[in-house]
Amino acid sequence: MTPDETDALRRDAEDPGHRSMFLVPPASGGRYAESAYLVGNSLGLQPRAVRDDLAAHLDDWATLGVEGHWEAHEPWLTLPQRLAVPSARIVGARPAETVVMNSLTVNLHLLMISFYRPSGARTRIVIEDAAFPSDSYAVRSQAALHGLDPDATVVRLRPRAGEDALRTEDVTAFLRDEGDTVALLLLGGVNYLTGELVDIPALTEAGHAAGALVGWDLAHAAGSVELRLHDWGVDFAAWCNYKYLNSGPGAPGSAFVHARHLGDPAIRRLDGWWGTDERTRFEMAPVSRPPASADAWQLSTPQTLALAPMTSALALFDEVGMPALRARSLRLTEYLMDLLGSVTPHRPLEVITPRAVDRRGGQVSVRVTGQSAGELAKRLRFGHGVLVDSREPDVIRLAPAALYSSYHDCWRAAAALAALA
Ligand SMILES: *Cc1c(COP(=O)(O)O)cnc(C)c1O
Repeated sequence: MTPDETDALRRDAEDPGHRSMFLVPPASGGRYAESAYLVGNSLGLQPRAVRDDLAAHLDDWATLGVEGHWEAHEPWLTLPQRLAVPSARIVGARPAETVVMNSLTVNLHLLMISFYRPSGARTRIVIEDAAFPSDSYAVRSQAALHGLDPDATVVRLRPRAGEDALRTEDVTAFLRDEGDTVALLLLGGVNYLTGELVDIPALTEAGHAAGALVGWDLAHAAGSVELRLHDWGVDFAAWCNYKYLNSGPGAPGSAFVHARHLGDPAIRRLDGWWGTDERTRFEMAPVSRPPASADAWQLSTPQTLALAPMTSALALFDEVGMPALRARSLRLTEYLMDLLGSVTPHRPLEVITPRAVDRRGGQVSVRVTGQSAGELAKRLRFGHGVLVDSREPDVIRLAPAALYSSYHDCWRAAAALAALA
C-alpha cells in the first residue's frame, strides 16, 4: 500500500459518510471488490432501505387492492404530498411550493407553459450554450409552440474564449444590455458538463431587474449544493430525484413554483384531475378548482411504485442535512482535485471545474486529450473498477456522492487515471 492510499483510508476512518446504508455495485475489474462509484450524478446508488419500501407497497396492493389509495401504510393518494416535505427542505422551499410528479423534462415544459409568456419585443429565452440537450430541445419547442423561430428566440450564452465556465458578470451584462428582449432566463444551477455552480441568487435578481422570469434546472444541484429557492425569489425550478437524490431509475421529478405565483388566477396551466383541490376531486366536477399550491400543476394519478423508493431515499437527506452533506462533498472534491492536480502536470488531463468553493458543485469534470473520453471511461471501469462517465468528445465527469462515496474511491480514480492517461 502506498502512503497515498494509506492517507485515503485514514481520511475515510475520520470522515466515513453513510456508505453502509447503500448497496455499492461490485467492481468490473481491478483489485478491489467494490466499484469506485463516481457516477451518482447520473444514477445514485440504492439505499438499502428501499427494498422494504417497495415490498410494503406491493404487500398493500396484494392485500388491499384499490383501498390502498387510502389505507396503505403510506396511502397512495397522498404519497406525493408527503414526499414534497423533504423535497422542499432539500431545495430551501416551502412544501406548498413543491410538488413531486412526472419527470424533469416534462416538468420544465409544464412550467414553461405557465412562465414563458412572450409578448411584444420580449420573446427571447436565454440558456447556457453548454445546456443539457433536453433543455435545449425543450426551449426550442416552446418557442415554436408560440409561433416563434427557435433560432432567433433562443439565446445560448457562451463562456469567454479559452474559458469553460460562464462568468456571472457576463450574464448580468447581457441582461443589462439586451434584457428588454428576454422573456425567460433558464439555466442549470450546476452545469452538467463543467460542474460549475452558478450564482443562482445573483442571476435570479439580474433576470428580474431586466423584467424577465427566471427558472432553474437543478438536476445537478438538488441534493448536492445548498439551495434557498424561496428566499432567492426563483420563479420556478425542476429537478430529478434519480441523480444525487438516490431514488432509483425512473424516479419521478420534483418541481418548485414560488409562493408569489401560487393561486394567481392569471397563470396559464395545463389542467388534469390531479390538479384540482383534493377535497373536492372525487366530486368529479366539470371545471377544475386548483389549490393555491404547486399541486395545481399535477395532472394524473401518482406513480406509486416509482415514488416508493423516495420515502427512504429523501429521509437520509433530512437525517444528515444539506449543510453537512455539502461540506463533505466539498472535502471529497477538494481531495480529488488535489490528487488530480498531482497527476495533471505530466499528463494530458485538465480539470475544467472551477476550483473556488462557491463556484463548483459536486462533480469534477476533466478534459482529456490524446484519447477518446469514452474509451478512457471503459478502461477505468474494466481495468480498475472505477466508474466515471464520459461526454464526447473529451470530458469525463467524476462525482463523489457525499452520502456514500469514500476518499478511497477518489484515490482509486486518481491512481487509475495516472496509470492510464
Ligand atoms: C439529467 C438531466 C436531465 C434529464 O431529464 P429527464 O427528463 O429526467 O430525462 C435534464 N436536464 C439536466 C440538466 C440533466 O442533468
